[in-house]
Amino acid sequence: MEKKKSVAILGSTGSIGTQALDVVRSFPDKFEVSALTASNSVDLLIRQALEFKPEVVVIIKEEYYSQVKAALANIECRVLVGEEGLIEAATLVGVEVVLNAIVGAAGLRPTVEAIKCGKDIALANKETLVIAGELVMDLARKHNVKMLPVDSEHSAIFQCLVGEDNAIEKIYLTASGGPFRGKTAEDLARVTREQALKHPNWAMGAKITIDSASLMNKGLEVIEAKWLFDLELSQIDVIVHPQSIIHSIVQFEDGSMKAQMGVPDMKVPIQYALTYPKRLKNEFKRFNFLDYAELTFERPDFDTFKNLGLAYEALKEGGNRCCILNAANEIAVDAFLQDRVSFLGMSDILEKTLCHIGNRENLNLNDYIAFDQESRLVARDLISKLRN
Ligand code: NAD
Ligand code: MG
Repeated sequence: MEKKKSVAILGSTGSIGTQALDVVRSFPDKFEVSALTASNSVDLLIRQALEFKPEVVVIIKEEYYSQVKAALANIECRVLVGEEGLIEAATLVGVEVVLNAIVGAAGLRPTVEAIKCGKDIALANKETLVIAGELVMDLARKHNVKMLPVDSEHSAIFQCLVGEDNAIEKIYLTASGGPFRGKTAEDLARVTREQALKHPNWAMGAKITIDSASLMNKGLEVIEAKWLFDLELSQIDVIVHPQSIIHSIVQFEDGSMKAQMGVPDMKVPIQYALTYPKRLKNEFKRFNFLDYAELTFERPDFDTFKNLGLAYEALKEGGNRCCILNAANEIAVDAFLQDRVSFLGMSDILEKTLCHIGNRENLNLNDYIAFDQESRLVARDLISKLRN
């Protein structure tokens, strides 16, 4: 019998993490889960650990340690805490693939440390590449590890490139347009958190759902695509495709285009990242052409959704710009979710934070982490002044 593939799932209690466990659960003879990690969803983490019996369980927030430890007293596993525990889970001996499904900049160090230990990375945590794409991809090449995209658009591009030894002319990243597609800035002046959290096609964590509403998510994905596929900015186009059936497209130098399609279901790209280069039979919903008489396409509205342009700009300038953009966005989204910043006000926070911090190039990991921290302070300060 084939040896089971050992997987560490970082962020196992989130939207991607739980769907990854659904995939693993449906192939009991293919995978074994060696590590599970969560920030604070203790009950779910405990249930997952009792079911999958990993070697290591990590709870980031120390105050939950004794609860997790007590609940797992009867199974053989080590319970660890904090960032150090997370790094241990990401670098565990015997693990072949680390699925990074953490949200935000907290995913960067675990990716880097896992690569240094030669683990293949199934990457949902796009922030890793937004902050430090060049550094991370160089490291992946040096350690000869695979970067397997989980983000549906990047998985689509990756799948279109299988078997190709040909240059890419261009890629088209598709965007659903989110819940506010077609709205004007005037319409968006007063939108609420609840409205922004209603995504038409995907059920996801809160942060990426807000990013999808503001098109920041597509901006982050442009940056992610640049580094994953080693492209020039001029080779990356975004096209709004509200049905989310075509997940993205590669155009080759002979004008031929390949697209990857299917009903919107993150379990498809998650499964592909875990089983690559194989495709395994599953029972997920299949696409029916007659359910979709029309697949439509539109230009993104850069005037209303400023964050998309800010992402292109940051990528063009390079250095620390994308790191600052990402950190300021995390703070702005958090503040929007707490009703402390308006929907459109989020873009102002990003612009002002970028203005406040000078550009620096040739950064190492600690430099990126320092700029991430500094940007958070600046963005928080800007937000606290809004009220006064
Ligand atoms: P989520 O909020 O549902 O889950 C996040 C997970 O990370 C949870 O397990 C949480 O406990 C953990 N976590 C949160 N803060 C942490 C910290 N500081 N340190 C360690 N762990 C922490 O998020 P999600 O929607 O599953 O998204 C995860 C990542 O995948 C994001 O980078 C997102 O952009 C990307 N992604 C998600 C989807 C989707 O459909 N949800 C699609 C494409 C890409
Ligand atoms: Mg995506």
